[in-house]
Amino acid sequence: AEEVGGGDKEVVREYFNSTGFQRWKKIYGETDDVNRVQLDIRLGHSKTVENVLKMLKEDGTLQGVTVCDAGCGTGSLSIPLAKEGAVVFASDISAAMVSEAQQQAKEQLGLGTGEGNGTGTGNVMPKFEVKDLESLNGKYDTVVCLDVLIHYPQNKADGMIAHLASLAENRLILSFAPKTFYYNLLKRVGELFPGPSKATRAYLHAEADVERALRKVGWKIRKRGLITTQFYFARLVEAVPA
Ligand code: SAM
Repeated sequence: AEEVGGGDKEVVREYFNSTGFQRWKKIYGETDDVNRVQLDIRLGHSKTVENVLKMLKEDGTLQGVTVCDAGCGTGSLSIPLAKEGAVVFASDISAAMVSEAQQQAKEQLGLGTGEGNGTGTGNVMPKFEVKDLESLNGKYDTVVCLDVLIHYPQNKADGMIAHLASLAENRLILSFAPKTFYYNLLKRVGELFPGPSKATRAYLHAEADVERALRKVGWKIRKRGLITTQFYFARLVEAVPA
């Protein structure tokens, strides 16, 4: 597990199939067995999801709109999107995460196996897949990637952003931990990220770097948001073809 190089993705995958899965499932869940820090992060993250839904709905109904949720985690965004009538393609590098998301979707959306069954409400079950975002293909009206870039250094993030943009026809929404909060974040949530040197594994991104990566592939930022709680910091951007 070298610092930068081929190792990052394998370390991340392994983490989110084991201790990271347990930790984040709790944070993204609703149970009471969370500490003060985890509860605060749960709150911050739920605000991010709320903001994304608001941004998306400002453009009109989501009914029938195809959305790729890259790095879907436990389905925190995919499930509410499906409730809005979006046709959701949800994927994650971690099989544990995908299986949890699928379970959650079944419970929250009604019966079905996640293979595109109707839910009795006119909504469609998200289609879940174990896949790293670099291997995703196809075209989607909207691509969303929340709180994933934190696991990758900017030199990797550039390629990830370019690839995500290539999958999107109209919109790309990204959230990342902004570099302005670097010291705070390292100090406060370093423990939440995969080791061996846990603190150094949380990669913060300067907004200008993300913007430059988008511009390089012909996209521009149209909307911005900032979500902060005591322990959670996220810059939210919506990009569109320039
Ligand atoms: N996007 C979800 C949300 O906001 O609820 C989950 C965020 S969680 C902090 C980060 C997720 O990214 C984990 O589920 C992890 O497995 C996934 N992930 C990390 N690297 C990935 C990659 N290269 N491709 C796809 N998923 C990835």
